[in-house]
Amino acid sequence: MKSFLAYRIGYGEDAHRLAAGLPLVLGGVAVAHAEYGAVAHSDGDALLHAVADALLSGLALGDIGQYFPDTAAEWRGLDSRLILARALELVRERGYQPVNVALVVTLDRPKLGPLRAEIARTVAGLLGLPETEVGVSFKTSEGLAPEHVQTRVTVLLERADV
Ligand SMILES: [Zn+2]
Repeated sequence: MKSFLAYRIGYGEDAHRLAAGLPLVLGGVAVAHAEYGAVAHSDGDALLHAVADALLSGLALGDIGQYFPDTAAEWRGLDSRLILARALELVRERGYQPVNVALVVTLDRPKLGPLRAEIARTVAGLLGLPETEVGVSFKTSEGLAPEHVQTRVTVLLERADV
């Protein structure tokens, strides 16, 4: 059913367990010198997974698990940029586009501050937004979940014809 709201908000979150010897990718950016990487069926990019879920939730389109089931062999090792691209395509097909996005990553180690600009730039590029419309916050779990990465994302969607 077509939505007539001019603006819609979307929210997504994700978490992955971390393990030694795996790559860590967040927002399409490889985190160099990470001791631990994400245990995942895809490339484990918890930030792009949350962005994709936020896009889908904004239009009540479900979640990425429905489009990319983690039991499907074809999605093993999948580049999460493709998951995000599909979610964005679904949003655009319904006549909406993202306006701005707020990203929160909770990770104890390593510190991600030096990657803030690169992550903002990369996510902005994937969403077709200016960098100024991508907020990036980093938190730690204060030792409560040192072997996990957690992400939370809100996105504002605007109907393209308003
Ligand atoms: Zn994920």
